[in-house]
Amino acid sequence: MNPPSFVLLLATSSHHKLREIAAILDDLPVELKTLRDLPHVELPPEDFPTMRENAIAKAVAAARQSGIWALADDSGLEVDALGGAPGVYSRRFLGDAASDADRNTEILRRLQGVPDDYRTARYRCAAALASPDGTCDVVEATCEGVIAHAPVGSGGFGYDPIFFLPELGVTMAQLPLDAKNRISHRGRAMELMKPLLWKRIVTTS
Ligand code: IMP
Repeated sequence: MNPPSFVLLLATSSHHKLREIAAILDDLPVELKTLRDLPHVELPPEDFPTMRENAIAKAVAAARQSGIWALADDSGLEVDALGGAPGVYSRRFLGDAASDADRNTEILRRLQGVPDDYRTARYRCAAALASPDGTCDVVEATCEGVIAHAPVGSGGFGYDPIFFLPELGVTMAQLPLDAKNRISHRGRAMELMKPLLWKRIVTTS
């Protein structure tokens, strides 16, 4: 079999996201590159009001600078009792110095006394695929859950220890990578992205 001729840059500096996306795209005939392979590529600040716009900005900037197709994801947690916060600010919630544990503790503090029925939340992921000349496809997906009363589990990253999945009876941080990828916002967005990627693979090879 010939080696894959479609080269795709995963335009994220998060090693957690890289690991998840690379596993999801494992069955595609693509050669994956990361920002480590292309250190001159600089992602723009994520200062748009929506994840969709941030994902497009990152993918387009990465594809234009690298000259290869680029895939970017912008994602976050929306807590209904907090009016959808932290949402698009999920990474910067509490500032740059805060850790994942700090952010989880603060969400739990803000939800203290909120009964289970009102602890609903969702992860959202917008994924954008950009060509070197700047055209772009975007998909979006969510994963519904509730905010737990305490962090549980050591897998995943970010808000996973406090994101409880009622149908499975575990938090996202208790799931192995392949199980998380099957149900997560990112897994679902990437599954929607796959046919679009296939189209590009077929038409550019
Ligand atoms: P951004 O997409 O780089 O703006 O940041 C997304 C932020 O949302 C991450 O830093 C996490 O805090 C959170 N997040 C996104 N996806 C996940 C996930 O799959 N698990 C846990 N937290 C996530």
